[in-house]
Amino acid sequence: MSKSIGLYLHIPFCKSKCPYCDFYSTRAGEYEYNDYVIALKEKLKYWSNHFNGTVKVKTVYIGGGTPSVLGAKRLCDILSSVKENFTLESNAEITVEVNPDSGKKLDFALMKSTGFNRLSIGMQSAVPAELKKLGRIHTAEDAKHTAELAQATGITNISLDLMTGIPLQTKETLKQSVDFCAQCGVTHISSYILKIEENTKFAQIESKLNLPCDDEQAELYLYTVELLEQYGYMQYEISNFAKKGFESRHNSSYWECGEYIGIGPSAHSFFNGKRFFYDRSIENFKANKIINDGEGGTAEEYIMLSLRLKKGLNTDKYIKRYGATLPLSFFKKADLYVKNGFMEHNGTSYSFTPKGFLVSNTILADLI
Ligand code: SF4
Repeated sequence: MSKSIGLYLHIPFCKSKCPYCDFYSTRAGEYEYNDYVIALKEKLKYWSNHFNGTVKVKTVYIGGGTPSVLGAKRLCDILSSVKENFTLESNAEITVEVNPDSGKKLDFALMKSTGFNRLSIGMQSAVPAELKKLGRIHTAEDAKHTAELAQATGITNISLDLMTGIPLQTKETLKQSVDFCAQCGVTHISSYILKIEENTKFAQIESKLNLPCDDEQAELYLYTVELLEQYGYMQYEISNFAKKGFESRHNSSYWECGEYIGIGPSAHSFFNGKRFFYDRSIENFKANKIINDGEGGTAEEYIMLSLRLKKGLNTDKYIKRYGATLPLSFFKKADLYVKNGFMEHNGTSYSFTPKGFLVSNTILADLI
């Protein structure tokens, strides 16, 4: 029987580097784009031969970096190669990440006819001063325009990225951004808290950034959840919100410990209980240097990933997967968190409340 997997393809190019970002991407031109697409297609063939018909693909996610810098023709070329090499399930979710700057130039009609059915647009904020602070090279109007162009061709399953904790962001400016997203008529919103990552420009100037303090961050997070849910974007993961039925199937599979293959520099995979990845080098990727990352899908990992989801950890599913119940200490501690409003207990599931999500790392360290 063939397994259903997710396929992640990484596009390691951006037009310019945002000062907070530590994803693997470089600046490049037409020659490098073409060269990379050839390499990606070779690796699709490699993995297809490796699996030899034993897997089906249920979701494809082209992320980055900025996939949209490749333009519609190259993106369609990549997707056609996926289809030549793998069996796609008939209702496969096929997402591509789009920057509002290059996104508004894409031929969405071509992309729709090739099979793309979901977009994730990196907007971050609708407030010009915040976009400037983040070093973004587009306006909020670009994001709206991109969404409208896609919607007009029938690609209506669209996600917008938002960011909270931006320097000088207030509840008022956050509301402006959420209102703007809702007006765009999108189906999904990802809202991430700005994190200062090592080796980024922001890390070098952190003390001068005027970042909100922890309490302000917490307030902004809870306000985001409240506003988005008022608009009908229901929280289904710590940072993700969707209209009913539009939860990202690809990303949900990560949190459900589903299997996936990541192709491209810095792309990670989980298959047959093993984790492995390509490192952050296009040359090593071309040489197909795959690095083992040990066992995956352990009970601890399953608990941590499940609790990222709003539906939480189902104790019956846990027993089915691991052949044992959760330790008694888990229930004792979790029940205390329920009492204090950090968690909820419904039937056979434990899950975090929005207040619990805010301190989920600390609670998880205690629970596991
Ligand atoms: S466009 Fe996205 S991937 Fe590229 S540098 Fe900015 S945040 Fe990072």
